[in-house]
Amino acid sequence: MNAAPIYLVLISRDRRLPAAAENLAACARAIAALAPAPIRALVAGKNPAAAAGETARHLGMPVLALEIVGLTDPGDGATGISLADFLNSEIPAWILMEDTTLGRRLAAELAVRLSAACITGVEAVEQDDHGVVLTRAVWGGKFRAAVRTAAETITVTVADGAFAGRFEKAGGQAKVQHRRSEAARGGRRHLKRIQAPEADTGLSEARAIVAAGSGIGEPDRLVLVRKLAERIAGAQVAGSRPVCDRGWLPYSRQVGITGATVAPALYIACGISGAAQHIAGMSGAGLVVAINKDPRAAIFQHADIGVVEDLGTFLPLLVEACGQEEDSTP
Ligand SMILES: Cc1cc2nc3c(=O)[nH]c(=O)nc-3n(C[C@H](O)[C@H](O)[C@H](O)COP(=O)(O)OP(=O)(O)OC[C@H]3O[C@@H](n4cnc5c(N)ncnc54)[C@H](O)[C@@H]3O)c2cc1C
Repeated sequence: MNAAPIYLVLISRDRRLPAAAENLAACARAIAALAPAPIRALVAGKNPAAAAGETARHLGMPVLALEIVGLTDPGDGATGISLADFLNSEIPAWILMEDTTLGRRLAAELAVRLSAACITGVEAVEQDDHGVVLTRAVWGGKFRAAVRTAAETITVTVADGAFAGRFEKAGGQAKVQHRRSEAARGGRRHLKRIQAPEADTGLSEARAIVAAGSGIGEPDRLVLVRKLAERIAGAQVAGSRPVCDRGWLPYSRQVGITGATVAPALYIACGISGAAQHIAGMSGAGLVVAINKDPRAAIFQHADIGVVEDLGTFLPLLVEACGQEEDSTP
């Protein structure tokens, strides 16, 4: 078979079988069933021999162990440089990697170094009249996108577990070949991991949320947002991304695709335009009240009650009205 190979690229962190091995092997088989190509496995790392042996035995195929001499951490820039040096001479059609932070970073780096295309988070492999089509989740999993590329080489990260259930041992010779590569100096060095402080804001369990968007205009207006939240039982304050980017609220209070996913009974959006990335985090809310001075704001399409008004005018009135309700409660 002269077709360009499919490479599973596994990163060894210890002596064990790399966790993504079965998933990548099954994905490679699925691609090869549509576009026949030989499948090869590569296990790279500081000391990959034992993990490569495990991989060869488990997958039932020959494995190349790429020892990166002098590598201190798999996350260092040297990993991508050594992989690119090796793969450059192989000209694979597909390079499959784990869909982790490291895998995505390496897939992107290899795509640049090898002039390849890069598709991350692949969940399914199909075929249409023009060839292989890869499917991946987009918009925080709310939609699927079908993607094809005409590139000669494609780096792919395979969504965790997407193919693992279809794994079958290959039944080939479990031989391991060894290669060495000097860890390239320079580039990125991984120094240490710093634990982020625990930030349990309780947003995901909040019964009500008053969320501030860019429309609040200035951080001082947050006082009104907080006052409103104080007057609603079980309410928490949250914000859109720009509000957190500006440091008006901590990131732990950001709602959206890159923030918290919330599902309160009541969500009051103050000066939020309704961008899809924000909606992705609050679409499970019960009653949505939107306050925005622009009647065409997209947030109104997601709101049960829409108030077209300037926040400067409306928020003080709403805070006062909620206060009066509270005062009159027996
Ligand atoms: C990869 C990626 C991830 C992202 N993740 C998130 C995420 O997790 N969460 C998130 O929120 N965003 C996220 N974003 C950003 C998102 O695309 C929007 O830019 C953001 O949600 C807009 O925030 P906003 O609605 O506060 O601001 P804007 O879009 O600027 O909207 C402000 C709104 O306030 C209204 N307004 C202005 N002044 C007043 C006033 N005085 N009274 C009443 N209304 C007023 C305006 O009419 C406007 O509708 C992400 C973007 C990308 C590319």
